[in-house]
Amino acid sequence: MADSLVIIAGGGIGGLATALTLHQIGVPCIVFEAVPEMRPLGVGINLQPNAVRELDDLGLTEKDLDRVGLPAKEWALVGLNGNDIYAEPRGLAAGYKWPQYAVHRGRFHMLLYEKVLERIGPQAVRLGSRVTGYRENCDASVSVRIEQAGGSTCEVRGALLIAADGIHSVVRAQMHPSQPPIHWAGAVMWRGTTWAKPIRTGASFVGLGTHRQRIVFYPISHPEAQTGVAMINWIAEVTMDNAEGWKQRGWFRQVSIDDFAHHFANWIWDWLDVPALIRQADGAFENPMIDRDPVPTWQDGPVALLGDAAHAMYPTGSNGASQAIVDARVLGAAMLKYGVTQRAVADYDAKLCGPISQLVLRNRGAGPFGLLNIVDERCGGTFADIDDVIAPDERAQFMAGYKAAAGLAIDSLNRAPPTIANGAHVRSLDDAI
Ligand SMILES: Cc1cc2nc3c(=O)[nH]c(=O)nc-3n(C[C@H](O)[C@H](O)[C@H](O)COP(=O)(O)OP(=O)(O)OC[C@H]3O[C@@H](n4cnc5c(N)ncnc54)[C@H](O)[C@@H]3O)c2cc1C
Repeated sequence: MADSLVIIAGGGIGGLATALTLHQIGVPCIVFEAVPEMRPLGVGINLQPNAVRELDDLGLTEKDLDRVGLPAKEWALVGLNGNDIYAEPRGLAAGYKWPQYAVHRGRFHMLLYEKVLERIGPQAVRLGSRVTGYRENCDASVSVRIEQAGGSTCEVRGALLIAADGIHSVVRAQMHPSQPPIHWAGAVMWRGTTWAKPIRTGASFVGLGTHRQRIVFYPISHPEAQTGVAMINWIAEVTMDNAEGWKQRGWFRQVSIDDFAHHFANWIWDWLDVPALIRQADGAFENPMIDRDPVPTWQDGPVALLGDAAHAMYPTGSNGASQAIVDARVLGAAMLKYGVTQRAVADYDAKLCGPISQLVLRNRGAGPFGLLNIVDERCGGTFADIDDVIAPDERAQFMAGYKAAAGLAIDSLNRAPPTIANGAHVRSLDDAI
């Protein structure tokens, strides 16, 4: 089996989507995950239509996704005067063949884990197993070093190593030893969830504020039948001076709501009470908005980077998790063409590394929230009629440009053939071109 075994470092969204894809096309794989127990961690994330299409092709149903989130209907930017800057329909309402889902990251992650266990079996995911490095063997295979939770170490040999070990990837650090440290430009996010009545369409993503301070919120559950309340994911964000770098402990930590609620004390309109939304949360997490400078390649022989390990990006475009899923599918398609080989990894790298690295930089430049920067440049963020500041056509063009770069242009996505054809299998290495 080592001849075609694929070793996956990291059992997050990218790692598990890769495992499901490889299983679907008949490639054996094992996931080595550092944590000793899978738990439903995190708050809200978005699954864009390009990712939902792939999940659909993986056999995840609407019922599955409705258990962990709900279809999004609208994306809206609102100024501090409470007036819309831009609003557009999302998912099916926008004309995509597939919905966009707003989901609870932890629940979605557990759904993928459940599918991996069901389809591949419990032996497919080795918990408490941290990947610490790799070396390429003379026969082009790869040996992967693993440290177990108890401290013992071992080496596992496979045909390929797919590194889906997240933004702090050790595999990426070995592949690109001179990569710069994590990049932080001064934005800090506090995240939480609150049970409240959804506004606008009932499934709207709303970003309210300016380019330097805003609140983003959207429901990530269907409303309860009796009360009408849903789980609302919120992200309160402030940009501060980053001259001295990130001084807090850790990149993701639980904090008290009093630590940051004062920034939003006066953010009250007749349709929204931000202080109440924040204060009614069970708790909050602080994390700086960070990403990594792109690297020139995601491949080192039999090793490929995938997901955040390849392209950790600002969440401004809500596409980190979606891109990790798309990566897994593009990699699977390359294996259908070239077998479980380094050539398949090269094909995957050639298709994605360049354009997605550009997307990382685009998201660093605020992604779709860049409209707020334009509004700030032209009127300091204060406006009576948004059409006097930025014309409707210009707003629409700005958003269309972003969507094309993120693989979300409606017509191209709707017309594209499946990344992996139904029933396609890598039968043997001899089948590959
Ligand atoms: C606990 C957690 C909570 C998150 N919460 C949010 C959120 O609320 N909102 C949001 O937008 N994004 C969140 N993210 C990030 C988001 O999940 C990713 O940006 C996106 O899904 C891409 O997924 P990924 O699989 O590439 O990376 P991740 O989801 O980060 O998964 C990486 C996985 O690799 C494992 N790992 C790390 N190092 C090693 C190693 N050396 N060996 C083996 N395994 C390793 C990690 O434990 C993790 O399970 C969170 C990530 C994590 C890990």
